[in-house]
Amino acid sequence: MAFDVDLFVIGGGSGGVRAARTAAETGAKVALAEESRMGGTCVIRGCVPKKLMVFASEFRTTSALARDYGWSAETGAFNWRSFRTHLHQELDRLEGIYRSLLERSGVTMHDTRARITGPNEVSLETGETISAGHILVATGGHPVRPDMPNSALGMVSDDIFNLDELPESILIVGGGYIACEFACILNGLGVKVTQFYRGAQILRGFDEEARGLIAEMMREQGIDLHVGTNIVDMWPADAPGSAETMSAPAGERRPDTATEPGPVIVKATNGSEQRFERLFFATGRAPNSKGIGLEDVGITINRRGAIEVDNFSQTSVPSIYAIGDVTDRIQLTPVAIREGMAFTETVFKDNPTAVDHENVPSAVFTQPELGTIGLAEEAAREQEEIEVYCTSFRPMRTAFAGHPHRVLFKLIVSKATRKVLGCHIVADAAGELIQMVGIAVKAGLTKEDFDRTVAVHPTMSEELVTMREPVRTA
Ligand code: NDP
Repeated sequence: MAFDVDLFVIGGGSGGVRAARTAAETGAKVALAEESRMGGTCVIRGCVPKKLMVFASEFRTTSALARDYGWSAETGAFNWRSFRTHLHQELDRLEGIYRSLLERSGVTMHDTRARITGPNEVSLETGETISAGHILVATGGHPVRPDMPNSALGMVSDDIFNLDELPESILIVGGGYIACEFACILNGLGVKVTQFYRGAQILRGFDEEARGLIAEMMREQGIDLHVGTNIVDMWPADAPGSAETMSAPAGERRPDTATEPGPVIVKATNGSEQRFERLFFATGRAPNSKGIGLEDVGITINRRGAIEVDNFSQTSVPSIYAIGDVTDRIQLTPVAIREGMAFTETVFKDNPTAVDHENVPSAVFTQPELGTIGLAEEAAREQEEIEVYCTSFRPMRTAFAGHPHRVLFKLIVSKATRKVLGCHIVADAAGELIQMVGIAVKAGLTKEDFDRTVAVHPTMSEELVTMREPVRTA
């Protein structure tokens, strides 16, 4: 049976675009639908604008450091509007590149919403119906607010890049990647940041020592971080007579009147009641799996709303595959890209390729950054007997200026095989460093391989090859 296209991709984010391009390069006829902007979360409202904000926010401490080194220049004030204009110009430029890459690969773009209407059929909001040999769902995810009255008062990460002005004060709720990164960014840009995390320590799942040091460094730079704390109640701060009219009697649900983000009064589990100019929920992301016809064709979706796929990204309907955040395997751009390329190998190059989700390096762009690969000490201990090599110190660059800033380098080593099972770095540029160490860990190198490598001096990361004695075994 002849189809209109060989492949229809739903979603123009990092994964979908890479799959569409690589499939089209094999000679397949490919179409792609994107209802928003080409480039998806990473390029338009995630990694890229976030990293540019990280760069912007670092200048305050850099210029303070410059003064300690003898420079007399002052930084002056940060002009958010001028930065935002430049930021959006850059995002437009990047979106243009994504479009021209697709165009050059011969992919037909549809700037509209698509819905699956059969195992080999997609219907567009424009009224068009297209038949396809295969369908690839790469619709990504979206930030979620907690389900409680007036949670519409809180922004989510999508909203940050479009703010008209930076607020004077902000409460960030959450302790994951997004919460911690934006706490550091906004603090660096001069916003008074308070952060609530409901658990005992931020960055759950990462190595405990690394999490502890990040929390300490965040507090040290002025972030008012409260762990074991959450919102119990909130209401609009500037509504007439807000406190009196809005407070609900004990045991009753507060009226849910808020419709958009704004100044807020927050009652916390620690008993405090505080006003914040803005509230920011960084409370996780959910897969974009609703309203695209998945249930109608019998695709299995799990309890968290993610599409169930096998190792080759195939769904329960053989002609339909899914990659990236909508499958909720590892929510990282480079992983989605790999899944997209593996899909093309499997379906269009007759080379079944499963994506390797083991030992994926990643970085949290806090200040300092956290770079990590492999097992945290706690997880490694559960698995086998280990040696822990760890050092934490004040690095030369900031120690010279008398700053209390500390870094951490840590290796988790298997006693039996001597392989390095995990590496955790807290330091400026830890994201860059972990990419390099990641190669060694992924290659299964041993502690002795690390030791054989001569140190690069004077650097912080020379510690990775000079730690001779374990600090503990477990
Ligand atoms: P995370 O899942 O990392 O963090 C969500 C946080 O919100 C957790 O601390 C969680 O607490 C807390 N939380 C969840 N629900 C509630 C609630 N109802 N009330 C209070 N707190 C709540 O999600 P993020 O949104 O930070 O990031 C999503 C994903 O995006 C990440 O997992 C990551 O894969 C990716 N990402 C990667 C980045 C990078 O590579 N640098 C940057 C940004 C995002 P608890 O721990 O108790 O569950």
